[in-house]
Amino acid sequence: FCTMFSLKECDAIGFDMDHTLCRYVLSTQIELGHQALAQYLVKEKKYPKRLADPVLDDPNLVYCGGLLFDGQHKALVKMDENGKVEKAAFGTEMISDSEISKLYSSDMYCSHYSKVLSGTLSEKGVYHLHDNNFDMTLTVLLSRMMEIAEKQNNETKLNVFADFYEGISHAWDAASFSGGNSMFFEELKSNPGKYLHKCPDVVKTWLKALKAEGKVLFLLTSSHCDFAKHVMDYCFEDDWRSYFDVVISKAKKPRFFNEQFPFKVVDPDHVCELATEALELELNGWYSEGSSHVLHEHLKKWSGKESAKVVYFGDSVKSDIVPAKQKCDWEAVYIMDALRAEKGALNPLSGHEKSLLFSEGFGPLLKSTNGTGTCNSFFCKLIEKYATIAMPSVEYMASLPIDFQYSRLGNGNGYYPGKPNNILKQNYRLQES
Ligand SMILES: [Mg+2]
Repeated sequence: FCTMFSLKECDAIGFDMDHTLCRYVLSTQIELGHQALAQYLVKEKKYPKRLADPVLDDPNLVYCGGLLFDGQHKALVKMDENGKVEKAAFGTEMISDSEISKLYSSDMYCSHYSKVLSGTLSEKGVYHLHDNNFDMTLTVLLSRMMEIAEKQNNETKLNVFADFYEGISHAWDAASFSGGNSMFFEELKSNPGKYLHKCPDVVKTWLKALKAEGKVLFLLTSSHCDFAKHVMDYCFEDDWRSYFDVVISKAKKPRFFNEQFPFKVVDPDHVCELATEALELELNGWYSEGSSHVLHEHLKKWSGKESAKVVYFGDSVKSDIVPAKQKCDWEAVYIMDALRAEKGALNPLSGHEKSLLFSEGFGPLLKSTNGTGTCNSFFCKLIEKYATIAMPSVEYMASLPIDFQYSRLGNGNGYYPGKPNNILKQNYRLQES
């Protein structure tokens, strides 16, 4: 087992699209996601208007550190590496250690710990690990919904989880991109520049260089073909499909890695999915759904290597990193916006972005306090268990030589641009923002 990782040794290289190959302006994108969902619930499910107050009204609850939403206790919890609840919010308020031990017994152990660590990152209605930029809007929303339901004492009790999942499937329904009645997609259609960053030339040049070295390149996104085209057209501006040997949209990750669904053909001229199932994938094709198993067979064929080594870049621990490693044994490069707080990372975080990614209430992302000392946080343990390396952006890696040797994650190594000093500090956000 090699302690170093290099792109040079990979035969196939895949990219997630949203928040990975295509970067979003976090401050506007997170608020838009929140508004789309909250306004739906206010209008259709009669939640009080304050559900749709800006996310930053509850700065402690927005946090990119892998908080677990525990449905049983209606609490948002930060665990340490051993499963002990270090910090918790009940509704929208942070709670004290003695209140935590009332909820979680005197050892303050969270019973979902081993299940989450072994890769089951959510169980519908029971718990949900919030681990990516999309999820960050959900922490505030769910906490407010729980608090509202708790205070309500009339006969028609709000069914928070049912409303929550219904809201997600309506407000963020990928199928409604073309319909014209989704606030979320209409905004992204009419003001893409407010929400998306253009792809820098250094990334385009790097993708071309990787292809020229004989690597098989693929785009693998859960976004539907029409939305994927909209985002890629805006970010790349040119013939973006030419950068990839195959494009897969509507992948429904993590299902893509867990189950065997057939691929369907996407008609690139009409940007729609055909009913035709594709048993064989063709080079330069565009497909939807499918499974990692069949894709992997094609990556072997196209690279001419029976033991093809594959690396996948993604920003979601739940949908990209854990299943790619666990189900396919692919290397997984974790794109972690929080690392943009570190010296030497490109695209430093804005003050607004810092307030969203970090929380005074929950403290450092990768460290926990336990009694007398400190230990790694659960989030740190999860990342280091499944990801190969962690990067502030694809652009950061594109700026380094293809044969650059990266230290793998573990014992504080494997984070780039270096040991994450800023995000280890307890009072980082207080000092800097
Ligand atoms: Mg993504």
